[in-house]
Amino acid sequence: MSLDRALELVRRSLGVAYPNPTVGAVVVADGEIVGEGVTEPHGGRHGEVVAIAAAAERARGAALYVTMEPCAHHGRTPPCVDAVLAAGIARVVAGCHDPNPDASGGLEQLRAAGVEVELDDRFEARAQNEAWRTWVARGRPFVTYKVAVTLDGRVTVPDARWVTGEESRLLVHQLRASADAVFQSYADRGVFRGFSASDATRQRSMARSLNHSKASWLVTVQRGKPVRCRSGSISTLALES
Ligand SMILES: [Zn+2]
Repeated sequence: MSLDRALELVRRSLGVAYPNPTVGAVVVADGEIVGEGVTEPHGGRHGEVVAIAAAAERARGAALYVTMEPCAHHGRTPPCVDAVLAAGIARVVAGCHDPNPDASGGLEQLRAAGVEVELDDRFEARAQNEAWRTWVARGRPFVTYKVAVTLDGRVTVPDARWVTGEESRLLVHQLRASADAVFQSYADRGVFRGFSASDATRQRSMARSLNHSKASWLVTVQRGKPVRCRSGSISTLALES
């Protein structure tokens, strides 16, 4: 149940720790949650360190539930494994392994130091940071293909501007806001057309309305010629046309 709580903490702050993965953690002592935390923005403390600090003295002998195994390397912050050991945590339950070859092995180190360790492998724990996991483990971007289609497989409807409704368009903009770069093009009677000034304006106002701080690249294809534009709170910049 406490791992579920840690997963929920991440769900509420997804993307906040960008470009770091978001990790949630809960410290349990005597059947009671005595500290919880999630990775801080801008290279701040990792979730388990925040939770341990919140638990203070009650972390000694307690159980730590964490969505990803504590890191074992010195990045922007010291290894979380050290913080877990220093706090006297007796048991660690992790929702997934750390796929970063430089930082993994945390659970093994804790086990070797006498901490009771359990891997409660959860799909959601991995899915919450799937783009970051793909990047660190495979060295390639995580790619999402998005297309609106009718039940009979068409991408346009005669005399209608959209195939989709308000709700799905909002979801699409959330998806766009969470991506580092968006490739787009559209077909008009089977011919790929480019990107208009009104598209750029719409993209910027959408990014603003979602209050997304991360500026993403918008890459559009115009008859085979790429046009790169910057969206988000920064003005549109056409680098090639
Ligand atoms: Zn860490």
